This record gives sequence, structure tokens and C-alpha cells, in this order.
Amino acid sequence: METIEKNNIQNQTWSELAKICGAENVLTDAEALELHSYDVWPVAAKLKMQGKQPYRPDVVVRPLSTRQVSETLAWASREKITVTPWGLGSSVTGAPLPLHGGISLDMSAMKRILALDVTNLIVRVQAGKLGIELEQDLNKRGFTLNHSPQSLDRSSVGGWVSTRATGQFSSRWGGIEEMLVALSAVLPTGEVIETTLAPRAAVGPDLNHLFMGAEGTMGVITEVVLKIFPVAEQRLFQALAFPNIEKGLVAMRRIMQSGLRPFLVRFYDSDEARHAMVDPTFNGPVMFLGFEGIKQVAEAEYAAGLEICLQEGGRELGPAAVLAWMNRRFDFSSIENRLALPGGLAETIEIAHFWGDIAETYQALKTALAPYAAEVLGHFSHVYPQGVSLYIILMGQERDDATAEERILKIWETSMNICLEKGAVISHHHGVGIARLPYMRAQSGSAKLALEKIKAAVDPAGIMNPGKLGLNS
Ligand SMILES: Cc1cc2nc3c(=O)[nH]c(=O)nc-3n(C[C@H](O)[C@H](O)[C@H](O)COP(=O)(O)OP(=O)(O)OC[C@H]3O[C@@H](n4cnc5c(N)ncnc54)[C@H](O)[C@@H]3O)c2cc1C
Repeated sequence: METIEKNNIQNQTWSELAKICGAENVLTDAEALELHSYDVWPVAAKLKMQGKQPYRPDVVVRPLSTRQVSETLAWASREKITVTPWGLGSSVTGAPLPLHGGISLDMSAMKRILALDVTNLIVRVQAGKLGIELEQDLNKRGFTLNHSPQSLDRSSVGGWVSTRATGQFSSRWGGIEEMLVALSAVLPTGEVIETTLAPRAAVGPDLNHLFMGAEGTMGVITEVVLKIFPVAEQRLFQALAFPNIEKGLVAMRRIMQSGLRPFLVRFYDSDEARHAMVDPTFNGPVMFLGFEGIKQVAEAEYAAGLEICLQEGGRELGPAAVLAWMNRRFDFSSIENRLALPGGLAETIEIAHFWGDIAETYQALKTALAPYAAEVLGHFSHVYPQGVSLYIILMGQERDDATAEERILKIWETSMNICLEKGAVISHHHGVGIARLPYMRAQSGSAKLALEKIKAAVDPAGIMNPGKLGLNS
């Protein structure tokens, strides 16, 4: 496998790409290049405000079909031009930003729903489809994806698979890895492959996983087949105050280990509870709980879950705060508004650990990060029988954007090193991107060797998003 130091494209006319995708879909204007130089990573926001453009592609190509993706990659492999897929650019870690320039392959024009099968409950869709459009289309027919990332209104189906995304209802419905049935992809050398379309299969390794969480390093996903579900007949909600973090964590663990599957579990620490309750005087941790399904099951699970919470010292506050949150659950404006201020600092970091270790990891992170931001908020929101995710939000104000950028990188270093030290996984769902690159080797350990060998075989010219996941770097 080759390491691409620098694309040799200074005088490229891109005429070959124009022949493949049409001249109107090969963009080199400053606006298109700038748009694809920044994702939603707070460091990217700070770079943009300083007028820095270190992750600028040389060209943006917008394919309309799998054939065009295939011919583009075959050409790029021959010419040794790097290719970084771009879904809708909602990554918060720098994943779709090219480290070596080259082609930004913008998948957003491939957005058709190709087939809806209401007997087998699956939908086939092109990879660039905007999540919320697919969800709304399904809702009109009485179905849902049950995948609800906070970025549903700004992320693509192919992006979800490529980042191993998960949604706000994951405790009941799982992450994208449990929702994906099959996919079509183009290998870096241009061949088109389709994975096995079946409800389950035992015919060798599951090749869906070659692309899942690969962040565009193994090829380009062009079509995705996802599970769909009937819209739930009933939803029941409750907010509960808890005396302390430990009690709430025990309640969450007991709920999940007893086989109950709330579709919504969010447990906010005292600092974030004030925001979650939209009440600056609210004091103490709070849990938002929701159950859904056919009426009898939703009611029975709700009653059993509530009983566990009451046994652990939970106090019912009623459903209003949870319903209000459901209505604003895609809102990211507090982070974006803060970042838009000169010197404004904001960051979100999500990790996961086993039940036995999460409280200690949480305390260590809160203590270590406190000096770096005016506010360090925490919540636990993706829950499993074995463990739970922790999401930390930091907000502060520095004297200028350069200092804010430096401070955000220090926050990453501090939090990632604590995770590694405590044995926590360094990302629960936002992925590696550029933010976590320096910590990737320590996280992967010996398994990295297998990934490197697979990458070398799949992408012999080393063109696909080189440097990411620590590959070809
Ligand atoms: C407000 C906000 C809230 C968020 N909430 C969540 C959340 O709840 N859960 C969650 O998991 N994430 C969340 N994210 C992160 C982000 O939305 C996800 O990572 C999402 O899956 C990225 O999708 P995208 O289409 O925007 O991909 P991009 O950001 O464009 O790309 C992400 C990565 O996938 C690769 N890629 C994209 N499309 C393809 C393709 N077709 N083939 C191969 N590689 C491809 C890119 O090269 C890149 O490495 C949030 C982000 C924001 C801004």
C-alpha cells in the first residue's frame, strides 16, 4: 500500500472527471471548495473564523450514479489522486475533511428511495439521502426508521453507516449496525459490490462491517438497505429526579439488565439538568424515560421501569419536560451560537464504558475538564445491559479564536488520555475523524494490524481518505 504524500494535481484540468460526471458536477470554484473544507467539528469552526483552510480539497465531484462513482474511483486509483467521501458534512470530528487535498466526493445528489418493501419491512435508498426526508416519507406510510440521531435533519444515510452512527432511541432499537440489512459499495479500484441481502446469514464475515465506521477509507457506499418499523402505537414518558448520579446509574443498569427496553433513557447530571429542565433553579440529576410499542407492552414496560426508578430513590416529575425535549431534540443552536462568537468555545465528547467503571470515569473527566471551560455538562444517554455512553458538553469563552482552538485541542487530549487510562472506549458514536486520530493507535492495539492489511488489499493505491483511522499516514 502506498502512502500518498501529496496529490500531483497542480495542473490537472479535471477533464477526465468532467467526462465521467458531467462538467457541471465537477466544481473548483472557491465557494464549493470552502464549503467542503469545514464540517461541524468545533475546531473546523474556529479555523474558518481565523480564515485558515488546512483541509481544502482541490476539486468537488458530485456523482449522480453508482456507475459515475465507479468510474471516478477507477480513474483516481490509476492517477493516484486521493478521494474523500462527503455525505452531508455533519461530522463533528473532521471525518469528511481531506488531509491531503484531492477529490471531495459529494454524495448528496444520490438521494433517491429505490424500493420500499412493506412485507419484509426494508427500504433501499441511495447513500446521499438526507435522513429526515427518508424518515418523513416513511412516516406518511405509517413506518419509521427508529434511527434518530440529533443530526437527523443534516446527515445522510451513507454517512450514518460510515460513522457507525446511533440515535436517541438506541436503547430500544440499537445503532445503525443493527438497522443495516445490506449495502452496495464501490471499492477504491472501481469494482461495484453488493453485500448479502438476507434477514440473517452465516456465510463468512459480515462484509457490511468493512464499510461500517470505516469513515470512507474502504470505498464509497452508494446504496443502503435499512430495516423499517411500524410507527409505535403508544409512547409513555416520565421525568424523574434522583438524589445523586450513582442512584440514577443503578436504576438505568437495573432497567436494562432486567430485559426492559425503554426507547428513551437520558440521565443528566446536576449541571446539565438545569438546561434539560429549562429551569436555572433546578437542582440535582434528572432522568428522562420513555417506553413505546403496542399499548399493552408499552404500559407494562413503563410500569416496571418506573418501579425500578422509585426503588432507587427516583421522584416522579411528570412527562412535560420530556415532551418538551422531544420537540427540540434536533436543536444544536446553543453550541453553534457559542462557536459563532469570537473566542467562543464549545465541544461535545462522547465515550462509553462498562457499568462497573462509568461512575469513576465520569468523575475523573468532570474534574480534569473543569479548568478548561466555564461549563462542563454531562449526560448518559445510550444504555446497554453491559454499559452506557457518557456525553460531555463544554462551553466557554477565550480571548480569541486561536486560543479557543488551542483550548479545544487540549480538551481532546485531556479527555482521550483519561479514557485510555480508564479503559473506556474513546468514541461511542461520533467516530474518529481528525479529532481522535492521535489516540487511535492506543485504542486499536494489536487489532490495528488486521485493519492495515485489509486496507492494503482493498485500496492498493491508498487513495481513499488517506490518513483517517490512522491508515496510510
Ligand atoms: C448537531 C449534530 C448532532 C449529531 N448527533 C449525532 C447523533 O445523535 N448520533 C450520531 O451518531 N452522530 C451524530 N452527529 C454526527 C454526524 O451527524 C454523524 O456522524 C453522521 O452519521 C454523519 O453523516 P454525514 O452524512 O453528514 O456524513 P459526513 O459528515 O459527510 O461524513 C462522515 C464520514 O463518513 C464518510 N462518508 C460519508 N458518506 C459516505 C459514503 N457514501 N461512502 C463512504 N463514506 C462516506 C466521510 O468520508 C466521513 O469520513 C451529530 C452531528 C451534529 C452536527
